[in-house]
Amino acid sequence: MPQILCKMGAMESEFRRLPGVDKLLADERISKAGRKYPRERLVSVVREQLERERKSIIAGKKASSYDAIVNSVLSQLDAMTAFSLRPLINATGVILHTNLGRAPLSPEAISAMESVSRGYSNLEFDLESGARGSRQVHVESLLCQLAGAEAALVVNNNAAAVLLGLTALARRKEVIVSRGQAVEIGGGFRIPDVMRQSGAKLVEVGTTNITRVSDYEQAITPRTAALLRVHSSNFKVIGFTGEVRLEELVTVGKKHHLPVLDDVGSGCFLDTAQFGLAPEPVVQKSIAEGASLVFFSGDKLMGGPQAGLIVGEKELVDRLRKHPLARAVRIDKIRLAGLAATLMHYWKGEALTKIPVWRMISARLADIEKRATAWAKAIGGEARVIDGESMVGGGSLPGGTLPTKLIAIGSKENPAVAKRITRQLRQCEVPIVGRINDDVLLLDPRSVLPEEDETVLRAFKKIVSGLKSD
Ligand SMILES: *Cc1c(COP(=O)(O)O)cnc(C)c1O
Repeated sequence: MPQILCKMGAMESEFRRLPGVDKLLADERISKAGRKYPRERLVSVVREQLERERKSIIAGKKASSYDAIVNSVLSQLDAMTAFSLRPLINATGVILHTNLGRAPLSPEAISAMESVSRGYSNLEFDLESGARGSRQVHVESLLCQLAGAEAALVVNNNAAAVLLGLTALARRKEVIVSRGQAVEIGGGFRIPDVMRQSGAKLVEVGTTNITRVSDYEQAITPRTAALLRVHSSNFKVIGFTGEVRLEELVTVGKKHHLPVLDDVGSGCFLDTAQFGLAPEPVVQKSIAEGASLVFFSGDKLMGGPQAGLIVGEKELVDRLRKHPLARAVRIDKIRLAGLAATLMHYWKGEALTKIPVWRMISARLADIEKRATAWAKAIGGEARVIDGESMVGGGSLPGGTLPTKLIAIGSKENPAVAKRITRQLRQCEVPIVGRINDDVLLLDPRSVLPEEDETVLRAFKKIVSGLKSD
């Protein structure tokens, strides 16, 4: 008991050392820095800092000095007014990294987005007739031509597209899906959960590794509304496996007058095999093989802004278009503009040279090696160039990798090196993110556009000069 009293006494005296709110607000450094902001913001930053000080005293620490408190308030003000969401350089070698914002956009897409966001636009206004129009017209014919489809609809993202499709076509009815495709894509997108949200009943057929045509046929009842195929984007079943091909599923669908819905995930329009990658479902191929509706993302292999794209039979697309949920998941004008510009690259046949994700996928190893060598040289000492693999990622091409050249820093014998440089790179003005493997930091130039190299090299030089000076 006396010990506790003594502790409380010590705490009291530490509390008394804390300056008051008014004293801090009157401090010249704080009032000068806070001049740009409303007074109530400044007051709450000061109060919050004092609250943190009190908590640390309660935790048994000594009160900070007056100057340290002032400096904390100043850096808190800086942190509050800096944007939390900001650009970084993705040197992980994972081209479509969901945590790092998926696909970077082409300059043409960015400029289209900028010009419609600056002012008004003919978003839903038909310039020909002067009447009200549909926002979908700005991408519909491009999408139909690229996919070879009758109709198209664009919504917020692919999860919303699939939800809309199932809700509009299969609510209170049954949808048949192969057990091997009732998957979780990541980020909580689970086919069974989406199905439940839509009000459709999931009927799983087959086994995890094998599903046959007869499994689908036997599950069809008068309550069946659709057959669903889902691309198992982020995993691969190997060994004794068998899935029903889309064409076979289409035959079953035709026989029973059921639509075949195809969630291809990534939205690939180009042949990935030409780069030595595993084949990825191609949108126009799904349509050609008879899928009734095809669903895919805008910001995966398509290389555009976040969006959910639906292409297929007009009658079905119209049912989705008219469903009330379509309004709740509609796409905004800015991304619509970026999407149109991205689709235009495909139409013009310039996707490989204009769309960043395809530029990265198709980058030549010799060019990557040249850049890797320059990066390693800028870091000096620790850094060496080694062979490695880049990943496409983003729920596409499971197991599909591209040969690359990596900059390796540090070693198993000295794990502190990789840790230290990783932290320093993360603290750069434009942070640089790599990956650590066996205590070695690996940086992959493939997922960095050559026009970003200047920023990377400048950051390296800064870190190296910092090391020399301490
Ligand atoms: C990524 C993915 C989705 C979700 O798409 P978002 O655009 O992220 O909503 C749905 N289905 C499949 C097969 C996917 O790969």
